[in-house]
Amino acid sequence: MAKCDEGYLCQVCGQDVAEITDSDLYLRYVIGHLDPELLHATPERHIRCNPVLAQFIVDDNFTPVVVDDEFGKAYLDPEYVRQQESLATRGWHRLAEIKSLGEVSVLEIPLPEVIAAWPK
Ligand SMILES: [Zn+2]
Repeated sequence: MAKCDEGYLCQVCGQDVAEITDSDLYLRYVIGHLDPELLHATPERHIRCNPVLAQFIVDDNFTPVVVDDEFGKAYLDPEYVRQQESLATRGWHRLAEIKSLGEVSVLEIPLPEVIAAWPK
């Protein structure tokens, strides 16, 4: 399959976003922060180039991201941090799952609770 590079470059660092597990766009989509109709209209970024979200991914295979301003975990409500860590980490695991599945409809990839919350 020919890969069109246009539209897959990171808006922050300008480098190619090669894998779905590096994609901030898809991470935000699977955790319900981005509506399906905006998926193809929103600029791509690396997960690590959006540290305010990336800091909530807690996994041995993900090098921790630290934000040391007022948006950093150390400055946020612990309960909010716990919820965001659960959501972002499950979202990141979901991206790894999608990568192993290969071709799958974008409407099927968000976390189950995100799909359940969509208007019927
Ligand atoms: Zn980047």
